[in-house]
Amino acid sequence: MLNDDDLNRYARQVIIPNFDEEGQKKLLNTKCLIVGAGGLGCPVALYASAAGFGHIKIYDQDVIEISNLNRQIAHKNNHIGNNKAENLVQECKKINPNISIISEKKYFDETVDIRNFDLIFDCSDNPKTKYILNYLSHKYKKLLISGSAVQMEGQLAIWKSGLNIDYPCYECVFPRTDEKAPTTNCREAGIIGPVTGLIGSMQVNEAIKEIALKDYRSSAGNLFLYDGLTLNLDKIKLVKNRQCPVCSK
Ligand SMILES: [Zn+2]
Repeated sequence: MLNDDDLNRYARQVIIPNFDEEGQKKLLNTKCLIVGAGGLGCPVALYASAAGFGHIKIYDQDVIEISNLNRQIAHKNNHIGNNKAENLVQECKKINPNISIISEKKYFDETVDIRNFDLIFDCSDNPKTKYILNYLSHKYKKLLISGSAVQMEGQLAIWKSGLNIDYPCYECVFPRTDEKAPTTNCREAGIIGPVTGLIGSMQVNEAIKEIALKDYRSSAGNLFLYDGLTLNLDKIKLVKNRQCPVCSK
């Protein structure tokens, strides 16, 4: 049974028949890892906290700079110089003090033990972290919900290769190459704030579907491409690479 405070807090979602109290209990029991407390990590953590994901840990080693504030919506002008993960946790607690949420002021790497988490939100902004998250999520059979955004374009994908061998993984679709990839990070290519807000919101929407709904169609196995210039959302069916070094074994 949900307590009275939680019944009121989550009233607008538990009245949805496909969700109801059972769905809320599932969210409250879910352990989430959020990697990155920037443009994607802010909306992901704020919405995940508000929805009542009960256990959240946020990783980010960076400090808040003034140039982050056009998109990293939890961080305010008077937070400049603070650690991003720590600050984001404080802002999430203001929305929902009933959940357990903690920060880690560290760079996420392959030594992090992800076995205790149910769900990983990839809110990172670099390929190296995305490959590590993909490898660990496949190895330990975790649901990985990945977002990225640059300029006015965003990407979203739900990866489940560890849970179902027929699904592709991130590295099936984006194989590593020796060549230096062209720069596509926010610092050098630019980013419009609402694009990260949209993609981050969609990451949490997919997480709620996967964890809480009784009846839903998983979006895993597809890549969603959002174009803020045309307002198009393209859905691309992904193919598993049977020689993938991560998920074919
Ligand atoms: Zn793969």
